[in-house]
Amino acid sequence: MLEIRRASVLYPARDKSEPVEALRNVELTIEPGEFVVALGASGCGKSTLLNLIAGFLAPSSGQIKLDGAPVTGPGQDRAVVFQKHALMPWMNVLDNLAFGLKLQGVAKEKRYKVAREFLTVLGLEGFEDSPVYMLSGGMQQRVGIGRALTADPRILLMDEPLGALDALTRERAQELILKIWEAQGKSVFLITHSVEEALFMGSKLIVMSPRPGRITHRFDLPFSRRFLAGESARDVKASPEFIAMRETILGIIFADEEKAA
Ligand code: ADP
Ligand code: MG
Repeated sequence: MLEIRRASVLYPARDKSEPVEALRNVELTIEPGEFVVALGASGCGKSTLLNLIAGFLAPSSGQIKLDGAPVTGPGQDRAVVFQKHALMPWMNVLDNLAFGLKLQGVAKEKRYKVAREFLTVLGLEGFEDSPVYMLSGGMQQRVGIGRALTADPRILLMDEPLGALDALTRERAQELILKIWEAQGKSVFLITHSVEEALFMGSKLIVMSPRPGRITHRFDLPFSRRFLAGESARDVKASPEFIAMRETILGIIFADEEKAA
């Protein structure tokens, strides 16, 4: 349903800098219900790719289509979660969850009904009246994800959403996102630096490499399905298949780094 065909992005030169070929001929399809994870070193064009899908940026050449229609800008069918959440810190959890719907002109009763449903999904019951600035980083990020989901987007776009969390909170948040993904049947595009996170969460993995940014490898992944079928996250991540895959991916990334150096 989301199709990217031969998309390239060239950032023009500024004062003294050279133009940057941030993406070259990227081909990517995101099917309904697919969880695509993009992995790659800093500067390889991951955020540029997300910004193309979000419609924040137009490609220099190539095409992006959603259900056959060209993407010409941002839309409610695509919601973005950033690493640094964009919540209103002085507003409470419920008001933050309802805020996106308010901007869309949804009636008050409806938007608070939806917001309350997400309190449960996010495990934030009892915190509805707490101002967001008083919550932990992990809880704030859950509110951020919830706010993106209240708009009922077709695709959830996440740019290193868990990068600022401590290890344990991050694992819990990975599990929660997978459960939400399964329950809601959304397509997800997630960017991460963490090989383990990429392998655990994705149903499809793309590995990117810089200068110019390209997709160099693609893999189908079974691990999130195993977790959702009842295996514990620890067992999945400690399994021989997971470790073998992790070594394969690390090998690819280190080889790319050496080529670039
Ligand atoms: P990533 O998210 O993988 O770290 P980005 O997509 O942010 O990579 O950036 C890819 C490349 O494009 C980098 O070399 C970055 O410096 C450059 N870049 C990103 N945004 C701009 C911009 N607005 N203008 C010029 N160059 C940019
Ligand atoms: Mg980035």
